[in-house]
Amino acid sequence: MNYFSRNIHTLMNKVRQSIDTQCVQAGYQPQNGGPRQIPVIQSTTFKYDTSEHMGRLFDLEESGYFYTRLQNPTNDMVAARICALEGGVAAMLTSSGQAANFFACFNICEAGDHMISMSSIYGGTYNLFGCTFRKMGIDVTFIDYDASDEEIEAAFKPNTKLLFGETLSNPGVRVLDLERFARIAHSHGVPFIVDNTFPTPVHCRPFEWGADIVTHSTTKYMDGHGTTVGGAIVDSGNFDWEKHADKFPGLCTPDSSYHGLIYTRKFGRLAYITKATSQLMRDLGAIQSPQNAFYLGLGLQSLHVRMKRHSESALKVAGFLKTLPDVEWIHFPELEDDPEHSRQLKYLPEGSCGVIAFALKGGKEFGARFIDNLKLISIETHVADCHTCVLHPASHTHRQLTDRQLEEAGISPGLMRLSIGLEDPDDIIKDIESAITEAHR
Ligand SMILES: *Cc1c(COP(=O)(O)O)cnc(C)c1O
Repeated sequence: MNYFSRNIHTLMNKVRQSIDTQCVQAGYQPQNGGPRQIPVIQSTTFKYDTSEHMGRLFDLEESGYFYTRLQNPTNDMVAARICALEGGVAAMLTSSGQAANFFACFNICEAGDHMISMSSIYGGTYNLFGCTFRKMGIDVTFIDYDASDEEIEAAFKPNTKLLFGETLSNPGVRVLDLERFARIAHSHGVPFIVDNTFPTPVHCRPFEWGADIVTHSTTKYMDGHGTTVGGAIVDSGNFDWEKHADKFPGLCTPDSSYHGLIYTRKFGRLAYITKATSQLMRDLGAIQSPQNAFYLGLGLQSLHVRMKRHSESALKVAGFLKTLPDVEWIHFPELEDDPEHSRQLKYLPEGSCGVIAFALKGGKEFGARFIDNLKLISIETHVADCHTCVLHPASHTHRQLTDRQLEEAGISPGLMRLSIGLEDPDDIIKDIESAITEAHR
């Protein structure tokens, strides 16, 4: 959903509808006699009548599809739906959430540059920034969600190009103070990029709080059924690249791979996503397949209904967990005595998500026994779909670490990441209850 498909863009912006309606309808309006559902255009390429027309497409002189690595109509319609939900001006799909965060940053940050990220973020993103970006010559400073204004200010360098965080962090479910971080990023002339995977635009629209670019692992709630790995990037169109042209030469100076065109001059508010498509997707090729985009589009049509239920059920289960003597601590921002409850009320007043972080007393061993006795709740390296699942980092993702190393990594041996699905919450509670009883035997 960018320069290549301007038609969808204009169509979409005619009426601003409620988020529930947008989930079902945005991004695709069938023609007279056309398919009601978004059609899967499973085609690598597109046919043109004249060589001259094809040439104009390659020069970005005209919008249109020519090769699915750059754009595909199915992907575009689904991206347009996500774009509408976030309230952006342009969006693109990627093959995974990892690819989305990579493209979102690499589009404006290259060897010799620096960026700032929250430290308690998804492990895969932490590795991307902390290991791979550093190998590519991009320097990263990690800061805490609770960092003071002074600490954040101190992290900025003359070559800093962006500030990155997750609205609700995975797995800690911390709530990012969007407004404050946006203000500080802008005072340093850089955009604020927010991974909005956990709340989805149904529960939070970071653009309304000053974020400039939003990313998603659509693998989670957006798909919602555990079928499809995917990602998305949405641009608000609000960041003024030209005002900080010295920091963003990739957008504001001629691109030699397109006859010297300047993205901001030629594409205006569509510049950022058009560059990410025409350079990064062209060269790195992390495209989503049209069939996967179709599944994602289906998932989006019930997103508003599902998010409400995920969050209500998680609150019920969290309330139950709090009453258990075996629970050492629990973190779920919708609980009234949670330290981040006031931030949740400000940024996610209608609900957060289905993910709960908690720890059981009795350490690693009791945690493992508890998990082994669960029947309805499954053990999975996944979160945020319709199936309730649990992960015990000390036994799974971080199993090589000793108890002491776990503490150093901020993971208590009993920490559980519990993702509440769409089953009856009372059945989930019964499962937890009986697994605790069995674990004590
Ligand atoms: C899962 C996840 C990612 C990575 O997404 P993939 O689709 O697995 O590549 C990025 N950010 C967050 C917040 C996630 O939960």
